[in-house]
Amino acid sequence: MTSPADKEPPKPSNFLRQVIEKDLEQGTYAQRMWGGSPGDAAHHQAGRSDPARIRTRFPPEPNGYLHVGHAKSICLNFGLAGDYGGVCHMRFDDTNPEKEDQEFVDGILDAVKWLGFGWDANGTEHLYHASDYFDFMYRAAEYLIEAGLAYVDEQSPEDMRHNRGDFSKPGTDSPFRSRSIDENLTRFREMRDGKLADGAAVLRARIDMASPNINMRDPAIYRIRRATHHRTGDKWCIYPMYTYAHPIEDALENITHSLCTLEFEDQRPFYDWLLDRLSEGGLINKPHPRQYEFARLNLTYVITSKRKLKQLVDEGHVSGWDDPRMNTIVGLRRRGYTPESLRLFAERIGVTKSDSWIDYSTLEGALRDDLDPKVARAMAVLEPVKLVITNWDALMGAGFQDVCSAPINPRDPASGKREFKFGKELWIEKTDYEEAPPKGYNRLFPGNKVRLKYGHVITCTGATKDAAGNVTEVQAELIPDTKSGTPGSDAVKVKGVITWVGAADAVQAEVRLYDRLFAVAQPDTTDKDFLEEINPDSLKVVTAYVEPALAQAKADDRFQFERHGYFVADRKNHGVGHVVFNKITGMKDSFAK
Ligand code: ATP
Ligand code: MG
Repeated sequence: MTSPADKEPPKPSNFLRQVIEKDLEQGTYAQRMWGGSPGDAAHHQAGRSDPARIRTRFPPEPNGYLHVGHAKSICLNFGLAGDYGGVCHMRFDDTNPEKEDQEFVDGILDAVKWLGFGWDANGTEHLYHASDYFDFMYRAAEYLIEAGLAYVDEQSPEDMRHNRGDFSKPGTDSPFRSRSIDENLTRFREMRDGKLADGAAVLRARIDMASPNINMRDPAIYRIRRATHHRTGDKWCIYPMYTYAHPIEDALENITHSLCTLEFEDQRPFYDWLLDRLSEGGLINKPHPRQYEFARLNLTYVITSKRKLKQLVDEGHVSGWDDPRMNTIVGLRRRGYTPESLRLFAERIGVTKSDSWIDYSTLEGALRDDLDPKVARAMAVLEPVKLVITNWDALMGAGFQDVCSAPINPRDPASGKREFKFGKELWIEKTDYEEAPPKGYNRLFPGNKVRLKYGHVITCTGATKDAAGNVTEVQAELIPDTKSGTPGSDAVKVKGVITWVGAADAVQAEVRLYDRLFAVAQPDTTDKDFLEEINPDSLKVVTAYVEPALAQAKADDRFQFERHGYFVADRKNHGVGHVVFNKITGMKDSFAK
């Protein structure tokens, strides 16, 4: 519920805001009672009027690390609750015992907190686990059986599938559909007590085998699965199905607006059916939570499936869940994304009701807009070649180091200045010298004048090459009285300005240049195995030289390396004596030729 106090313009309208505003206006949920914790009808009825105007929830399954798509859902659920005087519950949808793990639970909580949200509202921690509701879910299932609304089906899975029919063919009743209530109850208890083998039977809701919505053709609501659950251990050998569990979780928690992605649209009729039956039976209160679907985030060059992200990790295609190329929240964080940039991104993409692809540049744009006004600038040479000022000793004296300065952040005059040295030997980018320059090239080539940014103007005189023809050193002569910021320094006109660092005080750094992990814009949308779409050049590691001040950088410190883009000191590997930067993203405009 704690929405970060962003100083951003008013939130754009979206259809969910309209729904909520209408509900608030009409007082749809105004009469609700809240028992102080999740619970059944009696529990809430004994409580007080619900202090939360709306309740939303973020309900991940703890079977992996969260990704950028979840960030959208987190910002949406926590953001709306914060904006409308509500509460957002952090809920682990841990009804599937097999794939869940405490490591993922911890990772998910970290990610939500890092994004700037919390589940504490006026001293109450709204952190819940669906597995805490297993007793209620079981009780509700017995209620459905007793009301003639559920039965134990012992058809083989093949028969069950076959008898469900399809879009053009209505389903066929199971021979077990007309069992007596007593027989169903006995059999269901036998399921619970471990008397039946895994898969031997399921409990199904009895609705309508001819429904045009296949989800309403007696959906399975409980299955037998002997698996140790990460919280309930071996207490249960039957587990509720997601479609059954989710509406109940929402109802017990007094959720008002249950937001999910579009693929659940067809399940909404069952969601409503189940809650109607349970409130008729007095197990839950009215008004019910309501489900609203929005378009999931599809981001170009990115995969948003936990299962596939897990495969990338397990098969070693990346170094881990937090590999900076991963679009997991831990990966984006290590890459250098800020919580503010992800929230800004979520705000900009908004919520719609139809699926579309968001261009990756939208995410990078949000990042630049967040970082540009607040991060320090620095010069860095990523592909270094030595530049020697051949007239330095004669002009300045051997060993002399001139001190140059530049604003720490030109967007923030209060940020102050940074200093670095200009001497006889400097590092420049290899690509800033061309023996035979292409047309329009204004950087170093024999005879051309160039300004070394924040420093002096030089005239290139030539270069030395090795036997293979590679340039190993560039030579130039300094033009006196051209130092930036000194009177008359602009008397000599130049067309090119290049970045550099001083050989005497530059700091060596390992710089990891990341590119997109997938080579195609919409990975995993064709028959092709998504692993074949991995970009083989997604990581290039270079030994660079950076400004001396960066020796003091701490992990997670972010910089704009002038003309190269945004970089962050790697939170895992950067440390004293080992300077490691990750490229977050490039500059918006490529450096002028
Ligand atoms: P996956 O299939 O990758 O495991 P999921 O949808 O099963 O994803 P959950 O842990 O069930 O993952 O998701 C938690 C919440 O995040 C759900 O409410 C879900 O709708 C939402 N969510 C997941 N992926 C996206 C996405 N790409 N865009 C928006 N919301 C998403
Ligand atoms: Mg899921």
